[in-house]
Amino acid sequence: MPIPDSTVLQRLSALAAVSDEPGRHTAVIGEVFTGASLGEVPVAEAADVTAAVGVARTAQRQWAARPVKERAAVIERYRKLVLDNRDGLLDIIQAETGKARWTAQEEALGILAGTRYYSRLSARLLRPRRVPGPLPLVTRVRVARRPKGVVGVIAPWNYPMFLAIGDSLPALLAGNAVLLKPAARTPFSALANAELLYRAGLPRELLAVLPGPGSTVGGAIAESCDFLMFTGSTDTGRILARRCAERLIGFAAELGGKNPMIVTAGTDLAAVARVAARACFSNAGQLCLSIERIYVERSVATEFTGQFVAAAEALTVGPGYDFHTDMGSLTSPEQLETVRKHLADATSKGAHVLTGGRARPDLGPLFFEPTVLTGVTPEMDCARAETFGPLVSVYPVADVDEAVTLANDSEYGLNAAVFAATPAQGNALAARLRTGAVTVDEGYAAAAASPAAPMGGTGNSGSGRRHGPDGLLKYTDPQAIATTRL
Ligand code: ADP
Repeated sequence: MPIPDSTVLQRLSALAAVSDEPGRHTAVIGEVFTGASLGEVPVAEAADVTAAVGVARTAQRQWAARPVKERAAVIERYRKLVLDNRDGLLDIIQAETGKARWTAQEEALGILAGTRYYSRLSARLLRPRRVPGPLPLVTRVRVARRPKGVVGVIAPWNYPMFLAIGDSLPALLAGNAVLLKPAARTPFSALANAELLYRAGLPRELLAVLPGPGSTVGGAIAESCDFLMFTGSTDTGRILARRCAERLIGFAAELGGKNPMIVTAGTDLAAVARVAARACFSNAGQLCLSIERIYVERSVATEFTGQFVAAAEALTVGPGYDFHTDMGSLTSPEQLETVRKHLADATSKGAHVLTGGRARPDLGPLFFEPTVLTGVTPEMDCARAETFGPLVSVYPVADVDEAVTLANDSEYGLNAAVFAATPAQGNALAARLRTGAVTVDEGYAAAAASPAAPMGGTGNSGSGRRHGPDGLLKYTDPQAIATTRL
């Protein structure tokens, strides 16, 4: 299936060709739906990080000296360019991830909403604030917000526009330069968006996109930046947290999850099942907020499970650069392998497959059916480890107390969903869950998707938050300025 022609893709191939210096190592990126070559990107090395930091430091000082409103105007112009180029951007996201188009559209919409939120609010959020002085009337104390300097953003492959660019924009608005390392297999979304930012007036030296391997390029960024924002696996997050702690620089991370959903009696089970299917199988389950465990009260478990299986089977799975599919492909062979392994482990230990359970090579090399399991027990890998694929387990429970206990019995604490008989019951259950976000009666990541609401996790799901005031202010240091009239 050829990729639709688009101006953004043409510009990208020009970009890749221009940067193709002799001797420069390049990587061929495949179109996930077919495996066919999409194009080549130059692969960065540690030396490129050193060079980028050098020019970024000088450019950052000039950028930070510009009024916040001027910086916001650049970001606003970029927002308009995203709108003008949306079809091409969605093509690129889909091509390098294999996701369904509506999920790619969510990435672009998330960026548009976040851009507007921050470009409107940043001047107010970054304005110096008066605080009480030690000697009233004599000393005035203000707290100003100073940019960190050079911010490193290390991004994953599952949301290559939303996460890579979404974490870079507030850093830029706060007056920083950014070194952005997209995941090695999904560099094009970051490169295309960076081009749009440069066209909007962002000096090139302020944003370096450095596609390349994690250990070398990501490691070099962690060695030289002044603050690191990381999204990815808990294991890598721990390595980077350790390095940032040694260097005494700030670190924020959004890591893994094993997100639970609770369904109580007294809900509209057919409606809940439809929403649950979306919450579990969006982006083929390769979403940090994705639901992988459903706890349902025993009195309605049979009916709910039947409705949920029907909803999973009603999803349209397949390739396509249009809005006709609900679920696309997995993004990497490694991810397909993890799904296969978790499934084989669970079934070999007695779990039952209620629907799905098969790869679909007829649709493309990395497709896998939406899969629902029951009979999952604690010794199975998929009971505790994140699958990050279209594999979900349904557990009947005696009551809501057991549901809450089991939902909280996880090393992770990122996202949760609650469907309850009344809003009061839903809110009471939400208060008992130890997760960074909870969605009541909606199921699909709404709490975490608002640009105004903090998004992040507890426990092994990470630290720090993106979005909201914290998502901007974390890229600054407060400076207390006391002025005394002698
Ligand atoms: P995944 O398993 O989902 O690819 P990773 O945590 O390995 O998650 O990758 C997320 C991002 O972190 C990618 O951009 C990857 O290249 C980068 N990365 C991986 N290992 C390291 C490392 N040791 N140091 C810095 N960045 C890394």
